[in-house]
Amino acid sequence: MGLPEHIETRLFINGEFVESSEGKTFDITNPATLKLVAEVHEASEQDTDRAVASARAAFPAWSALSPAQRAPYLKKLASLIRENIAELAALEAASMGKPVGEFFEGYAAAGKFDYYSEAGHLIQGTTSVQTPGFLNMTLRQPYGVVAAIIPWNVPLLFLSNKVAPALIVGNTVVLKSSEKAPLTSAKLATLIQQAGFPPGVFNIITGFGNVSGSILSHHMDVRALSFTGSGRTGRLIQAAAAKSNLKAVFLELGGKSPAVVFEDADLAKAVQETGYSFQNNSGQVCMMNSRIYVQDTVFDKYIELFREYLNTRVKIGNPLEQGITHGPQADEAQHKAVLRYLELGKKSGDLLVGGSALSDREGYYVQPTVFTNTPEDAQIMKEEVFGPVVNINVFKTEEEVLAKANDTEFGLYAAVYTKDISRALRFAKGLEAGTVGINCTSPTTGVNDTPFGGYKSSGTGREGEPFTSLNNYLETKSSGAK
Ligand code: NAD
Repeated sequence: MGLPEHIETRLFINGEFVESSEGKTFDITNPATLKLVAEVHEASEQDTDRAVASARAAFPAWSALSPAQRAPYLKKLASLIRENIAELAALEAASMGKPVGEFFEGYAAAGKFDYYSEAGHLIQGTTSVQTPGFLNMTLRQPYGVVAAIIPWNVPLLFLSNKVAPALIVGNTVVLKSSEKAPLTSAKLATLIQQAGFPPGVFNIITGFGNVSGSILSHHMDVRALSFTGSGRTGRLIQAAAAKSNLKAVFLELGGKSPAVVFEDADLAKAVQETGYSFQNNSGQVCMMNSRIYVQDTVFDKYIELFREYLNTRVKIGNPLEQGITHGPQADEAQHKAVLRYLELGKKSGDLLVGGSALSDREGYYVQPTVFTNTPEDAQIMKEEVFGPVVNINVFKTEEEVLAKANDTEFGLYAAVYTKDISRALRFAKGLEAGTVGINCTSPTTGVNDTPFGGYKSSGTGREGEPFTSLNNYLETKSSGAK
């Protein structure tokens, strides 16, 4: 499916589509063709305030409903997302370059709204009779207005991870999408309207971080804020919360994830997994394994298989076409940033594959690039590139590689490949990361079994799994009766 004839570009506030109060719009350009896709309305300070005020006004009635009464709205939204997957995938492809065949997040987002529609029974308090003469209990109550701020790389998944649990427990929401990929969120707003949510319960605004994002972070009526994005912005949001009302803040930030391949690993599987992690979404994934360590005895074989993977599995092209696995970088800024890292990489390590922009295409394409023998202290080993660039280094001992894997400010994801179960478990325990894959580097962010989040500078808090996610959006009140 190509792009729809009509693309929604307005703000969704209090159940209605409205234009920017200052009449401002910003352009979305297709990163594969450099053609204008849409002019999107930019939320002003006044628009952002209106969105918060409408969420606040909607809160008493929404929170007075039982979770079972809220559930049908989430369920209806889930089925509308599924009905509109092809259009959502095309909008994502045209705004930030994700191939339509790789648009798994649409199904994941629908699954989240379905899942959380039935999770209301998990809102549980406790009772205690330990103090003689008293009955003590805890009551879990929604905050009120919750803000969600999301990035451009997998927008609908992060949106649903935050909004579905926040809504089912009775909060109302203002979501700010990324200025680089606002079209799927704007389309979602049309589905929210169709699902019949009461006005003001779920508002969606588009705009820039330094205006609407900053206003939400400082807003006295926003009681909790869930953010996914860069560490730089996460720090600004936490500072804004500290300066304003000390709102609860949950931060899902960047990574520099290691994958460690021991000599006894199933090498074909390790290459399959690490290769996919490297090229998925053109390297624009927070948990991508950007540092791969391979034991010296199997290093050459691994490199041979890795090259083969790239030659046979990576199909570069227009993300609106089926069968393409590798689109352009999201925009000019991302493209420039990745090219700068390629130059830095060439100065510090050995270039094995790629190393430049794709000159035969007009869009923001970068060749999948592999460096080896990069010194551990090189900039490209320390900073998140957020592009299709990986460093594959050799190691000799378990002790040495654990130290190297953990020698990073980040701690989002790590993977270990080995058939030795004792080593796998010992190593997984030693890795400083919020999520560890054993013989896999596949995403766990789309499932509901385990929480996702970072150690160290990769964030604060967890989301994705029901108890953690629901409790993120609930206050705890202690009450005693005599
Ligand atoms: P970003 O921080 O530039 O922007 C994210 C969002 O924050 C956007 O909506 C932006 O408008 C907004 N924003 C910018 N400045 C703001 C401010 N001052 N106040 C409030 N909001 C502001 O990040 P990005 O480039 O969109 O996303 C890429 C980053 O996100 C990478 O670092 C990546 O690793 C990270 N990420 C993390 C996860 C995770 O689950 N841990 C998932 C995806 C992406």
